[in-house]
This record gives sequence, C-alpha cells and structure tokens, in this order.
Amino acid sequence: MKLALVLGDQLSESLSSLQRLNKRTDWVVMAEVGVEARYVAHHQQKIALIFSAMRHFADSLRAAGWRVHYHPYNPDCPGQGLHDVLREFLAQHAADEVIITECGEYRLHQQMQASWPEQLGIPVTLLPDTRFICSKTEFAGWAQGRKQLRMEYFYREMRRKTGLLMEGDQPVGGQWNFDSSNREPYRGDPLIPIRPMFVYDNIDKSVLDLVAAEFATHPGTLTHFNWPTTRTQALQALDSFINTRLCWFGDFQDAMQQSQHFMFHSLISTSLNCGLLTALEVCQAAEQAWRDNKAPLNAVEGFIRQIIGWREYVRGIYWLTMPTYAELNGLNNSRDLPAYYWTGNTRMACMKACFKNTFDHAYAHHIQRLMITGNFALITGITPKHICEWYLAVYADAYDWVELPNTLGMVMHADGGLLASKPYAASGSYIHKMSDYCRHCEYQVKTSTDQNSCPFNSLYWHFISRHADQFVKNPRMSMIYRSYERMSDDKKQALHTRSTYLLEHLDEL
Ligand SMILES: Cc1cc2nc3c(=O)[nH]c(=O)nc-3n(C[C@H](O)[C@H](O)[C@H](O)COP(=O)(O)OP(=O)(O)OC[C@H]3O[C@@H](n4cnc5c(N)ncnc54)[C@H](O)[C@@H]3O)c2cc1C
Ligand code: SF4
Repeated sequence: MKLALVLGDQLSESLSSLQRLNKRTDWVVMAEVGVEARYVAHHQQKIALIFSAMRHFADSLRAAGWRVHYHPYNPDCPGQGLHDVLREFLAQHAADEVIITECGEYRLHQQMQASWPEQLGIPVTLLPDTRFICSKTEFAGWAQGRKQLRMEYFYREMRRKTGLLMEGDQPVGGQWNFDSSNREPYRGDPLIPIRPMFVYDNIDKSVLDLVAAEFATHPGTLTHFNWPTTRTQALQALDSFINTRLCWFGDFQDAMQQSQHFMFHSLISTSLNCGLLTALEVCQAAEQAWRDNKAPLNAVEGFIRQIIGWREYVRGIYWLTMPTYAELNGLNNSRDLPAYYWTGNTRMACMKACFKNTFDHAYAHHIQRLMITGNFALITGITPKHICEWYLAVYADAYDWVELPNTLGMVMHADGGLLASKPYAASGSYIHKMSDYCRHCEYQVKTSTDQNSCPFNSLYWHFISRHADQFVKNPRMSMIYRSYERMSDDKKQALHTRSTYLLEHLDEL
C-alpha cells in the first residue's frame, strides 16, 4: 500500500502524487498541524482559508472514491509536525512508500528529502509539481549561461510554450508587452464592480470558530473573511473577474484609492496558490474574453503576463537560488521593522490604508505591496529577513516560493539585481500621482524638507545618495543621479537633515 501526503497548497485533483495512487488500495493523508500553522504568525484569514479549503478538498476526494485520512488541528499539540501525523498513521497502516508532490518551500522540502525517510522508516518519493507551466529543470536550463535573467525574455518563452495570445510564432497585436498603456490613475470612473460574497457552510463556520479560538493573537481579523474555499467558489471568483473587471484591469492596474480595497484586481492568487484554480485555465479564460471582444488586449496581455510571466519567473528564481537567496542582504540593511507594520498605527495615510486593507482582508494589491509598504521598507533600509517575514505572515496568498523573491528581490533589491534591473524606490510624487492617499494625509506631499513634509520624499533621496556606489552606473538610474547632482548643496543638506531625523524617529511617523 502507498500513501500520498497532500499539503494545504496542493488542493488539485490533477496533483502528480494522486496520479500515482490506486484509489481502491492506497491512502491519501491530509493534516492540519501546529508547526506549519505557527512557524510564522500567519494572518487569521490565511489559516482559516487553508484549513477550510483542505477540509472541503478531503470531502471531494472521498466523494470521488478516495480513502482519505484527515487529521484536524489538535489544540493540545501545537508543536505537532507533518511527519508526526505520518508516523501515527504508519503505526496503524502498513505502507511501503510515501509519495508527495514537491512542496513550495525549501525548508520543508529539505526535511522531506533529508530526514523523513529515516524518521518514517520507508522510502519517500517526491514528484515534480506539474501544475506549474515551467518546471524547475526547464527554468534552470533557460537561465543557464545567461549574463542577466530578465522576466520579459522568460515570459516570451512561456507565451510560445503555451500558445497564449500568439499568432503562429508572433504575439497578437504585434507586441509582446502592453505595459506602457497600463499606468492610469483612477478618478472614480468607471465604477468598480463589487466582488462576489461567498456563502459559507458548516465546514467553513467550524474552521472560523477554531481559528478565532486558537489563533486570536495572530495578525488580522476574521470579520471580513471572503475567500473561496472550494473549487466552485474559486471558479465563481474567476468568472466574476473575467466578466466584470478584466476589461479595466490593464488601465488601472497600478492605481490606488483610499476607499477601494480591491480596485479591478482579480483576487485569484489565494485560489491559484492553494490549487483550487490552475494557471493555464485562468489565462485561457482571459484570452477567450479578448477573443470574444469582452476585454481589450492591453488588459488581457497584462493579466496573462502576471501569471505565466511573473508568477512562473519568481518560482524559477526561488528554486534556482535557494537556500542562499534567503540570506542575501545586498544593500547591507540593518534597521528593525517599525512596529506599525504589525499595529497599523501610523500618520502616513498611504501606509495606514495599506495596513488596514492587509489586516481587514489579508490582501493588498501588487502596487500597494511594492510601492507603498515595500518602497518604505526599501528606502528606510529595513533588514530583509524582517520584512520578508512580515509579507509571508500577513497575506492570504503568501507562500515562501512566491513571497520571498517578490520581497527580497523585487522590493528590497537585496539580491543585487538578479530579479529586477533597478530598485523600485519612489518618492511621494509617485504615490500622489497614482492614488488619492495624500488628500487624506497630515504630511505634505509637495514638500521634502519642512517639518511636516512627506517622509517618502527626503527618505527617497537619502536612499539614492547612500547607495550611489551601487546604482550610479545603472543606466536605468542615470537620470535620477543627474537630478541629484544638479541639486544645490543647501538642498542636499536640508534633505539629509530631514531624512536623518525621520530615520531616528522611524517608529513615530
Ligand atoms: C512584496 C511583495 C510580496 C508579494 N507576495 C506574494 C505572495 O506571497 N503570493 C502571491 O501570490 N503574490 C505575491 N505578490 C505578487 C502580487 O502582489 C500578488 O500576486 C497579487 O497582489 C495578488 O492579488 P490578485 O490575485 O488580485 O492579483 P492580480 O493583480 O489580479 O494579478 C493576477 C495574478 O497574477 C499573479 N501575479 C501578479 N504579480 C505577481 C508577482 N509579482 N509574483 C507572482 N505572481 C504574481 C498572481 O497569481 C495574481 O493572482 C507579492 C508582491 C510583492 C510586491
Ligand atoms: S503625503 Fe506622503 S506619507 Fe502622506 S499619503 Fe502622500 S505619500 Fe503617503
């Protein structure tokens, strides 16, 4: 008899481990364990989503004829790990092999590979995760021998491989990338359609009660919980996005609004990452919308690029470079994460709005993560490990393989530019252009050196000047350095004084 361990982010019937099993004779084991739920302080909604989706998935496997051993969370054993559950199961059932689709986290992957066979006393076979479009080996082959890795070229390969938005070997519309059309600020028109509100069953309700009782000290609240926990709900979420928001996704992809938590974004990352949706079906649905004239090319291309481009690319980088990647600190940062990242209490309106979104919904869209909370961590020089732990904890879609490259590479530039060719540092003017936050702020976005001036402004120039050695020769930053050089000495000194004050009082902003 074989058994397959199915993890909380592997809730897909197409899973490679399930393909190797015989429904009638083999077992599927699933487990909610304290070690995985607690190794960082995951947002309450993230734990609720994963436990609930796992319980529903176990039921759907049973309905399809599988034998499933399901281990619910045991509050009396908060230190229980996955291998403890497997050991208990193996004491009752004689199995000759454990089969697992490779997990998404280097830490657990190493444990499974290095110590589980001995701990369990039987072979442990790890199979590739075939739900991704690009395998680890294929990515390593693509990366080999390249002087620089750039998402854009990888993305073109993925377009060719999947045939998405292709006419023969050429991109439809004559262009691979329509990003330059996707940078509009939002001024209230068109109205943003509301997302579907899901109706939850007894399984969801009992999980929400469990999380409220056992994980009350974790970040966030459960009050606004509205994530799909079944494949049916995930398809409903996808359908709602394709039919009501995709057409504006491109134009307003980077826009932010104080009162709008989701804008025109798809809200499907939680479902993609735990396995309720597949990358290919999502992209095919978007392409079909373009073919049916329901959405313009800039929106559909922009959306597909996020998935077969960025999502696959960051996964490739993760597996290519771990475990050293997690240790990188290319800008030598050493500052602690300010307490408001956990409490949300700050006077900076943009940061406050993003924290509120994060704690209320376990969500913030890409530009809120990159250009507000991420940008602030970059320009103030936060220690990469601290900020990485924060992003892993607070978002319902956060798993190490996708969070780490986005934070350490894209946001913190701690990998020396492996993932992105320049740091995404910005002053308050960018935030002012792309949002209405500054209208609600007690700081003045138009000033940089006064007592009440926007902290992003002088901190941005502090970042530029303190990292001149690293970036002055970067062709994508030469204009910025030329502007800095043109500033008078008095202006530079005033910026330095203001930014030094802010860095010394970071916790009070
Ligand atoms: C610091 C930081 C941390 C992040 N951490 C995560 C994370 O832990 N998990 C995660 O799924 N995404 C992460 N992202 C990427 C992105 O912010 C989220 O995928 C997106 O906000 C999810 O919301 P959505 O489904 O509405 O996405 P949409 O904006 O509608 O985009 C569609 C889909 O594209 C994919 N996608 C878009 N951008 C990226 C990207 N940079 N990397 C990988 N996939 C992408 C997602 O699957 C997403 O669902 C992070 C970005 C930053 C800057
Ligand atoms: S003024 Fe500065 S701190 Fe305030 S919302 Fe605008 S960018 Fe953010």
